[in-house]
Amino acid sequence: MLEIPRGTRDFTSAEMLIRRKIEENIRSTFLSYGYGEIQTPTFEHLELFTVKSGESIIQELYDFKDKGGRHLTLRPELTAPVMRCYVEKLQMEPKPLKLFYFGNCFRYDRPQKGRYREFWQAGCELIGANTPEAHAELITLAYTILKNMGLQNIHLNIGNLTILQAVFQKFGISPLDQKKLLPFLDKAQFEEVRRTLYDSNLPDTHVEQCISLLQTTDVNEIKKCLEDAPDIQEEITNMETILQLLQSVFHVPSVSIKLSIVRGLDYYKSLVFEIEAPVLGAEKQLCGGGVYDLIGLFGGTPVPTAGFAIGFDRSILALETEQYVFPQPRLDIFIIPVTEELIGKAFEIAGMLRNKGVTVDVDLLRRGIGKSLKYASSRNAQKVIIIGPNEIQNNVVTLRDMHSGNQKTIPIEEIMHYYTKS
Ligand code: AMP
Repeated sequence: MLEIPRGTRDFTSAEMLIRRKIEENIRSTFLSYGYGEIQTPTFEHLELFTVKSGESIIQELYDFKDKGGRHLTLRPELTAPVMRCYVEKLQMEPKPLKLFYFGNCFRYDRPQKGRYREFWQAGCELIGANTPEAHAELITLAYTILKNMGLQNIHLNIGNLTILQAVFQKFGISPLDQKKLLPFLDKAQFEEVRRTLYDSNLPDTHVEQCISLLQTTDVNEIKKCLEDAPDIQEEITNMETILQLLQSVFHVPSVSIKLSIVRGLDYYKSLVFEIEAPVLGAEKQLCGGGVYDLIGLFGGTPVPTAGFAIGFDRSILALETEQYVFPQPRLDIFIIPVTEELIGKAFEIAGMLRNKGVTVDVDLLRRGIGKSLKYASSRNAQKVIIIGPNEIQNNVVTLRDMHSGNQKTIPIEEIMHYYTKS
């Protein structure tokens, strides 16, 4: 038997119903914040991703040569493609330019729950705005999308890579030791961070002070530690303003400072943020974003850019774990013509109802009423119309309520009337 490729999934109609509903919800939140949708190709030139991250990224990609010998790759994310598109054709657009996307991404990851080789991301890029309110609104949008999806328990963490660098400098941590620290910081493995700092011959008091700062949720502690570093004061003030806006203007209830957010230093700079769903355990990160710099690298005129990407599949997993009640597939009406002569009439009524947006199916197998009712029930039909030869002569049909089992004879116009009103 032929099998599905590792790390990919088929989605049933019931699953697609849920996915499309949530996707619709995400789209409408983006639109409500003034973002416009953008679509880019599923594959890109490999270089688009190596120019930023180096050749080492190739082992995480689905790259291939096409018949013309071009080295291409399925996209692992959408920020670089959107920035390529911006540089190619959108640079003259009035700023700020707000773009959002929804699309599948491919990574040669080790598959596990919440981690796939094909997955979907919903994200956006804010181009040409760098004020604290621009960033606070961006973060609020990410938070609101997840909330509007129906998630109850999510938490927002905000970091800043420029401030993190200043902390490293303050404690005299060498670039080599910084490199060793980053993977541990990223995973919040503070015992490993401590060990690495001790190994780097930092005085004991510095190690503990540094760890405390990396774990603090109090912006004042960071401020105090860096008060003698003039270059960093504006960044700290911006962070304070963003926090204050998030709390008192945008009313984001669950936000902390987390200096240990790393998110790949070569890509982001300054503000970074993550939103997690603690219910998910190991793979709990639903969203990552921040301020970054790609336009110059892609040959465009540099303008400030920030954005985020939400993991769509993982967000659905979080909803499932929170026991969210998802919509079920259902039919509004199932129509059973009792004799072959009535098949035409059945489709006529179905056609009229479908034109009004009612979800209708007609028995296609010429089965008896008993079997058809059983099928209608398996399709979660709310009502069944039984068209019998005697009734139809009087323009009436039998309408059965599938929940109560009650049946009544009603004129055909009445069904139309009922569904026009509702
Ligand atoms: P990133 O582009 O790595 O910052 O990822 C943004 C979001 O996409 C993460 O927070 C995850 O929710 C999701 N994500 C990343 N990689 C995967 C994957 N392999 N499978 C499923 N979701 C993923």
